[in-house]
Amino acid sequence: MLAIAAGGLAACALPAPLRAATAPYRFSQGGFELMVVSDGHLALPTSFLAPDAPKAEREAMLKAAGQSGEQYQSPTNVTLIRTPSDLILVDMGSGDRFMPTAGKLWDNLQAAGIDKTKITKVVFTHGHPDHLWGAIDELDDLMLPNAAYYFPAAEWDFWNGADAIRGLPAERAGFVTGARRNLARIKDKVSMLKPGDDIVAGIRVLATAGHTQGHVALEVAGGEGLIVVGDALTHPLIAFQHPEWKTPGDHEPERAIATRRQLLDRLAAGRSKLIGFHLPYPGVGQVERKDGGYRFVPVT
Ligand SMILES: [Zn+2]
Repeated sequence: MLAIAAGGLAACALPAPLRAATAPYRFSQGGFELMVVSDGHLALPTSFLAPDAPKAEREAMLKAAGQSGEQYQSPTNVTLIRTPSDLILVDMGSGDRFMPTAGKLWDNLQAAGIDKTKITKVVFTHGHPDHLWGAIDELDDLMLPNAAYYFPAAEWDFWNGADAIRGLPAERAGFVTGARRNLARIKDKVSMLKPGDDIVAGIRVLATAGHTQGHVALEVAGGEGLIVVGDALTHPLIAFQHPEWKTPGDHEPERAIATRRQLLDRLAAGRSKLIGFHLPYPGVGQVERKDGGYRFVPVT
């Protein structure tokens, strides 16, 4: 009885399971049809958010974002692109070994009427658990055995190299084990990506390292343009208003800052859209300049 009561309370306190079932967000971009599907969300310590930033300013921003508690919820938005020849998934979510609040991608795809066996290509932005661990099931078998996989070469080298263990804090050692387990399974089906490569005509790899050593974004041609930014811009307020604030989640903080500035400058200069993996669902919007920084303007 106690367990049931506790479960009931937890369910009441967390509106997140409802969010995970959010209907997919669809739009067209040039010759492509895009869909954003939720993988659920991550529950993360608020102390991860720019801990070294000026205290009062940081607190005001967390309050504005509704993130004043010890934990905050970070959405996880997966992009699916239908081209004339392919169905392309960008990142695979967390799978069922990272956090109980995440790993909902396959259920949500099915609910959206997508047969996952029809996915022909998978492109990874980087090797963090919430983007990669969904590649395999509980038996370590590939979720999509017939798809072709694309992974940034520099990112592949990082996770499989000695620096992955040396360069990460001890509490993230599990990230390396998990990444290697997933990468070993896609090894025979993967193509290495370099910035400037095209996945198909109109979908190009863009260098956005810093969050991780080989992080990439994807430029999707058509209309005013679109960039699937992955984790180059993660927080809807901090990353835009203060791209210079460091985040412990970034492997190379200085490089991540330079990448954010470059990306924001470019997005604000045009009318290009972006999709952010961790921005409020569906994470689709545009960037405007504001008060010496930038502002994320979500689609309505
Ligand atoms: Zn992420």
